[in-house]
Amino acid sequence: MKILGLESTAHTFAASTIDEEQIYTNEKSMYQPEEGGIHPRKAAEHHYQKAHEIISKGLEGEIDAVAFSQGPGIPQCLDIGAVAARTLAQKHDVPLIGVNHCVAHIEIGKRTTDAERPVTLYLSGGNSQVIAEKNSQYRIVGETLDIALGNAVDKLARKLGYPHPGGPEIEKLAEQTDEIIEIAYPVKGMDFSFSGIVTELEKKVGQVEDEVIANTFQEHAYASTVEALERAMAQADSNEALLTGGVAMNNRLREMVEAMCEQRNANAYFPPKQYCMDNAAMIAERGLKKAKRKQFTDLKNSEIKQNWRPEGIKV
Ligand code: AMP
Ligand code: MG
Repeated sequence: MKILGLESTAHTFAASTIDEEQIYTNEKSMYQPEEGGIHPRKAAEHHYQKAHEIISKGLEGEIDAVAFSQGPGIPQCLDIGAVAARTLAQKHDVPLIGVNHCVAHIEIGKRTTDAERPVTLYLSGGNSQVIAEKNSQYRIVGETLDIALGNAVDKLARKLGYPHPGGPEIEKLAEQTDEIIEIAYPVKGMDFSFSGIVTELEKKVGQVEDEVIANTFQEHAYASTVEALERAMAQADSNEALLTGGVAMNNRLREMVEAMCEQRNANAYFPPKQYCMDNAAMIAERGLKKAKRKQFTDLKNSEIKQNWRPEGIKV
């Protein structure tokens, strides 16, 4: 069964064709803000300007269904993918499948690693969640109480004068020192929060070296998510951790997850980097699983779901 997947929740417009055996294409174009963070209307503009080119490259052969990111995400951006998916489904006379973006991150992780029933740490520009499986449903067992981790690192980087996305820049700076300063370390049970850390560190800009600020951010913010992940694994009695989302590309974070898993005799799984960032292969993969169970989306139910949480969705 061949599925075309479309992704457009935030900065990336992407198209991918896959089947059970192969990922044939994984095309994407990423919106780069000239200044500041993601501007919804400008990101949407980028998406409709790139849609034709990316879909032309990403669509491979005869397809059996079109899957698209139905949410959560930026409404203006979601709409571009949804309109394209509806049009393509009608043109090719195949069913439409609305997919939860967060669940798709987990399922491409399962496809591209040996993880079977992991507890997932999903850290991206717009979402930060610890997701476990219970009674074959995805459950959010921990999450950020304010902004997403990617959003936090991007904000801090902006304050230090680096362009979007800031995660890789903060990582490079942090690698240049072992020094940290003491700041708050806000973990509340299974939840974490980042806006306080960002505010506290923004106040240190100019007083403390940039490298130390970056390293302090990583050692506090990343460690707090790994602490929540560890607790979630203990509660779920799981020995598999899956790290995904754009922030999952961070090497220090991977080291922390690996060290935690080693101590617990558990396995840490990291999808290849092209499947950590937003991509369309993950949407097609989730679509493939839904197509096999004939879980299609009627046109009248295909409206975007800006705040669609993965809570309670069937694995
Ligand atoms: P996503 O929304 O899943 O595509 O992820 C985008 C986020 O990942 C942005 O906030 C980036 O700053 C962040 N990111 C990308 N690479 C890294 C990295 N090496 N370290 C930390 N964050 C990163
Ligand atoms: Mg994402």
